[in-house]
Amino acid sequence: MYPGIKMTDTTYGAKLQRDGRTYAIQTRIPAGVVTPENLETIARVAKEFHIPMIKITSGQRFLLMGVQEQDIAAVRKELGDIGAASITPGVRYVQSCPGISFCKNGTQDSLSLAREISDEYAGKEFPGKIKIGISGCPRCCGESRVRDVGIMGSAKGWTIFFGGHSGFIARQGEQVATGLSSEETRDLVRRLIGYYKTHAQPKERTSRFLDRVGTAWLKPCPSE
Ligand code: SF4
Repeated sequence: MYPGIKMTDTTYGAKLQRDGRTYAIQTRIPAGVVTPENLETIARVAKEFHIPMIKITSGQRFLLMGVQEQDIAAVRKELGDIGAASITPGVRYVQSCPGISFCKNGTQDSLSLAREISDEYAGKEFPGKIKIGISGCPRCCGESRVRDVGIMGSAKGWTIFFGGHSGFIARQGEQVATGLSSEETRDLVRRLIGYYKTHAQPKERTSRFLDRVGTAWLKPCPSE
C-alpha cells in the first residue's frame, strides 16, 4: 500500500517526536513539485486532524508534525499518493531545481530527470538512505555536490557525483562522469547505486562506503 513501509509497522513509518507522544509524517513530493490540489489536500488533512505544524524540509517534502498516534493510518490514507513516502533505507527523495523549464540560467531539464529517477526508485530498498540532488546548471541550486547521488547540468550534458554528504562529516561527492545524456545518466545512476547495494554494509551511507572501499571502482563506470 505504501512503498517502502512495512505493514508490520503499526505507525506506518511515522517518526516519534521529541515529546515522546506525537509523530511526524513525511510526504512524497517527487522533484519538490506540488499542485494546487496537493496543497489543498495537505491543508484539509492538517485541519481535520488538528496537525499543529507543517514544515518544508531540505529534501523539498512536507513534514506533518505533531500527529496523534491513533490518527497516523487515517492521515496517510487521506493524503493519498503524497502520503506514500518511503521511509525504509532507500531513495528518500530526489530534490531538483526548476532547471531549463523555468530558470533563465538553466541548461538541462532537471525537473523531468528528477521525476523519472524518483519514480524508478520509489519503494526500492538499499543498505542506507540515498538522497539525490539534481541541478539544471553549474550554479548547483539542487545541492548536487553534497548528495549521495548528485546530478548537475551544463551546456555539454549532465555531470554525475557520488558519495556526497552534508551531515556530521561533510563531503563533496566524487565526480564520476560528465557530458552525459539523460538516458546515459539514468543508466550510470543505476550502476552506481547497484554496486553500492551489492557491496555496502547495512545502514552504511554512500560517503562512509567510499571511505571504506575507496573510489577506484567509480572509474571506469561500475557494474554490479
Ligand atoms: S541550478 Fe541553475 S538552473 Fe537550477 S535554479 Fe539554480 S541557476 Fe537555475
